Amino acid sequence: MASPDRRVVIVGGVAAGASCAARARRLSESAEIVMYERGRYVSFANCGLPYYVGDVIPEETDLLVATPELFHDRFQIDVRLEQEVVAIDPTTRTITVRVQQTGATHQEHYDDLVLAPGAAPIIPPLPGIDLPGIFTLRTIPDGRHIRQWITAHHAQRAVIVGGGFIGLEMAENLVRRGLEVSIIECLAQVMPPFDPEMIAPVHDLLRAHGVDLRLNAFVAGFAPTADGKIAVSTSTGDTVHGDLVILAIGIRPETALAQSAGLVLGARKGIKVDAHQRTSDPHIWAVGDAVEVEDSVTGEWTLLPLAGPANRQGRIAADAIFGRASTFRGVQGTAVCGIFGLTLAVTGANEKTLQRVGLPYEKVYLHPDNHVGYYPDARPIDIKLLFSPTDGRILGAQAVGEDGAERRIDVIAMAMHLGGTVYDLEDAELCYAPQYGAAKDPVNMAGMVAANVLDGDAPVIHWGDLAAHPERVLLDVRDPDEFAEGHVVGAINIPLPTLREHLDELERARPIAVYCRVGHRAYYATRILRLHGFDARNISGGIMTAAAQQIAIVTAGELDAQSERVLS
Ligand SMILES: Cc1cc2nc3c(=O)[nH]c(=O)nc-3n(C[C@H](O)[C@H](O)[C@H](O)COP(=O)(O)OP(=O)(O)OC[C@H]3O[C@@H](n4cnc5c(N)ncnc54)[C@H](O)[C@@H]3O)c2cc1C
Repeated sequence: MASPDRRVVIVGGVAAGASCAARARRLSESAEIVMYERGRYVSFANCGLPYYVGDVIPEETDLLVATPELFHDRFQIDVRLEQEVVAIDPTTRTITVRVQQTGATHQEHYDDLVLAPGAAPIIPPLPGIDLPGIFTLRTIPDGRHIRQWITAHHAQRAVIVGGGFIGLEMAENLVRRGLEVSIIECLAQVMPPFDPEMIAPVHDLLRAHGVDLRLNAFVAGFAPTADGKIAVSTSTGDTVHGDLVILAIGIRPETALAQSAGLVLGARKGIKVDAHQRTSDPHIWAVGDAVEVEDSVTGEWTLLPLAGPANRQGRIAADAIFGRASTFRGVQGTAVCGIFGLTLAVTGANEKTLQRVGLPYEKVYLHPDNHVGYYPDARPIDIKLLFSPTDGRILGAQAVGEDGAERRIDVIAMAMHLGGTVYDLEDAELCYAPQYGAAKDPVNMAGMVAANVLDGDAPVIHWGDLAAHPERVLLDVRDPDEFAEGHVVGAINIPLPTLREHLDELERARPIAVYCRVGHRAYYATRILRLHGFDARNISGGIMTAAAQQIAIVTAGELDAQSERVLS
């Protein structure tokens, strides 16, 4: 290599830092690129750590995506392991580096400095928090220590604090290893990026796999027990015992270095950057979990600790350093999690967020099969689509199902990324063969249902809104045997095939809320009724959505009690 014309120094060598370093080399053969990492590994797959604990990934080395040797040989990048950058002097453009093994410090010059220090797990200052056997999971050594603890203590019970992505993935993996698991979650639901009704089946599934799920409970403290376990006390007055505890209650951006250098932080305490990842100092860039990002739906600045944005930001910072005008377009929060065979995928804003920020929205629910029903093993996907009631712009989507949920969310995420509307989903040309989907893919279906709402062809009403409209006739258009098996309290049954014959029995003055199992037959019924002059609306998602929203359903055995039950 020619003598370096520029010295690019990167702090942190995992997702964001490593992608920045590699991209920088692809843009310049003459720059000197140095990457400092205080740990012993670079470019490791922290996303794989729960599966390493669960023995799905048996070898630690499988988590190493790239080694310092590869960085050197392939990219001529100088990786300095176990060296921590402890100070930055922006005026002289120098950093202070501490060599972990000796404690010695020295200064280094930079022309451009990229901060990719990631985030640290939140460790709340609770009584007993320092007890051995309480773990967080962020690094390969963290994963190794958990595995060693399980083996050394013949662990049989684990308590997981936090029901987010990492908490759930750890629950699955510890159950896989034969442990009994409790999850303590302070909210009323696990997986906060989703709306509660979408998560109801996840709660059922966790419990079906023996997970002791404790919602609405804060951890109050930890205490050792006489038999060598940890007693976890909660705000509800309960105590849960475990051989180990996993803390998975979120992360905080690593900003000590940025703060000491006088860089501007945002309201969420992440490093503030512009669209090119430049910080408040013109020669310092920041990327990954340490920075705040703009939510492209709400316009709010937020934290989104995910690998995809971290990698993209790394590339963009390198582009900017070498004069390319790439920009980071903000985040949608596209994410996926697998738990006991169920896939949960999300993109964009959820309903809770839209309500909080006051963005007008409409929503539809649907439960299409992952592929055509005539091909074996079709499985439903629960889909919720949120969109602008004025122009149909997609605001967010959630999908939960055994197969194909993430593919549908990826398609919707891409449409959102391009500013798409529900009409774009309706028109999308997607893969189809019987084992993969349907000629009207669930994504098309979501677009069609939403477009029918916007166009006024089949307006929807939601289960939660019915109580405010007691004048509405509640019409179940399923077959009589389905109705007898279980129906919503107060509903009358006119099966769809006979609806035209019974129109005279319906009061024209009263609006009608129509439902079926998933919303399909109710759509046809809504169209018939509207074409005959009735004010009819389809109850979005049908009785499958009602079940998840705890709407009172009377079953065959309970028919006598029907009059005593109320619609919640
Ligand atoms: C268990 C787990 C599972 C996950 N699963 C997923 C998933 O399935 N999908 C997904 O999208 N995301 C997932 N993530 C999140 C994803 O891993 C992170 O968003 C991503 O790693 C962020 O990359 P980063 O480079 O910003 O930070 P990090 O990966 O944290 O890397 C930062 C590095 O900087 C080093 N460092 C910090 N300060 C200094 C310093 N002063 N000097 C030198 N080195 C320093 C640290 O040692 C660290 O190695 C998961 C995370 C965890 C922990």
